[in-house]
Amino acid sequence: MELLKDRIRKDGKIRGTEVLKVDSFLNHQMDVDLFDAIGAEFKRRFADCEINKILTIEASGIGIACLAARHFHCPVVFAKKSQSRNISNDVYTAKVESFTHGKVYDVVVSKEYLNPGDKILLIDDFLANGEALRGLAKLVSDSGAQLVGAGIVIEKAFQPGGDNLRAEGMRVESLARVSAMSETDGITFVD
Ligand code: 5GP
Repeated sequence: MELLKDRIRKDGKIRGTEVLKVDSFLNHQMDVDLFDAIGAEFKRRFADCEINKILTIEASGIGIACLAARHFHCPVVFAKKSQSRNISNDVYTAKVESFTHGKVYDVVVSKEYLNPGDKILLIDDFLANGEALRGLAKLVSDSGAQLVGAGIVIEKAFQPGGDNLRAEGMRVESLARVSAMSETDGITFVD
């Protein structure tokens, strides 16, 4: 998606070799018109699929998922990051290792909002090692719902998550795939 890649080139800030900061339009201040265009592109890519619910993860996925849902005309459920040691029986749960903080945390979704028969699209801002998507996919699988695929805004294709998940059979559509980045040479994309 050229509009998105141009924006990443213009406003993305590279931190070390691993982290791309896009706080000015995606992760802190949000460019809602861009989010809307991102939502339209997800809809175009998954036009052949029946999708009745979007599942994302707090916090950065929520805004993107909501604008995407305007194009799919479906509700958004977000997995909550739980600090609690006592997780109730009313939720599906998965452990996720945070890419940015290195800590393992639980993500939970109420059993009320994921059901057998649901056809789920996962949405997230970044794909790095694939832990967040794997956690969300587990919640879907535990609920008996069907996982249709995942829509990612920025995939760091030099990290293994995308390739691994595709090899495991997940349909992953990433709108910008970063092949390499460095503070000196800037950012290059897969295509
Ligand atoms: P993964 O679980 O695929 O290793 O990492 C994806 C999650 O980590 C995303 O939900 C995102 O919040 C965060 N993340 C991973 N890499 C980056 C990055 O380079 N920049 C930002 N802002 N977040 C990232």
